Amino acid sequence: MFNQLQKEIIKLKKEKNAIILAHNYQTADIQEIADFIGDSLELCVKAAEIKESDLVVFCGVDFMAETAAILNPDKKIVIPDREAECPMAHMLPAEYLKQAKEKYPQAAVVLYVNTLAEAKAEADILCTSSNAVAVVKSLKENLILFGPDMNLAWYVSQQVDKEIIPIPEGGHCYVHKMFHEGDLYILREKYPDAEVLVHPECDPEVQKAADQVLSTGGMIRYVANSPRETFIIGTEVDMTTRLRRENPDKNIIPLLSEAICENMKLHTLEKVKNSLINEEFVVKVDAEIARRARKAVEKMLEVS
Ligand code: SF4
Repeated sequence: MFNQLQKEIIKLKKEKNAIILAHNYQTADIQEIADFIGDSLELCVKAAEIKESDLVVFCGVDFMAETAAILNPDKKIVIPDREAECPMAHMLPAEYLKQAKEKYPQAAVVLYVNTLAEAKAEADILCTSSNAVAVVKSLKENLILFGPDMNLAWYVSQQVDKEIIPIPEGGHCYVHKMFHEGDLYILREKYPDAEVLVHPECDPEVQKAADQVLSTGGMIRYVANSPRETFIIGTEVDMTTRLRRENPDKNIIPLLSEAICENMKLHTLEKVKNSLINEEFVVKVDAEIARRARKAVEKMLEVS
């Protein structure tokens, strides 16, 4: 059952011919009124497919909304709270990337989609946590500059026969840095039949202690198709909201209830309503930067 505010948003959405895209880390009330919920890759693909809507309300962080704008230059993309920025994306300014490219001219540049448009414009190809290994394998170069998440860089380096240079040193997601393998062992003792799924943004020790290392989209598919009943989930805590809703017969336990991305949570139903009424805050990307960034995004979509 929708609450009054959710009903108003659904009505406004119809009147404005709008679509609401929400990342898996959004709160339950926003997930409920979204037309589509997904991980970074799924939202990128969805953004590229949008044909029929005049207005896209993007409930995610800045780099995701920018990607939607890059792929849909003729659409109006709005974000309910303009302060919703991903700190990891801001760890790799384009200037730093340019210097790294000068230092390693023979390297291919693979950037996680969690980067700002200016950095994307400097990349050869983008990747997400679900396709990073396939993207790196698809390249002819054996030397790869990879940023900004050093843990995802480590995850990829374990599965390819190439040299991966993480840029910048120490790039990370503060939410996934909260997990420690000690917490994982404690929960394993409490739930001996559980399977432990963690995100590749977690530290290598946590990845090694888990049963599966998966993107959020990968977790959705894995839990839906597994005969197991209990899962311990090592990523942002609202991932368990979606998993519980879609798998009511399964026991979904967060690895850490405090693993909250405060940046994602800046969006609220009230702000979603305002963004529909006022058609703000519009996400704009410089046309030349968008053109270059689009090439890197489209190259990734060809691999996915
Ligand atoms: S969970 Fe981490 S990577 Fe994702 S938006 Fe939040 S800070 Fe950025």
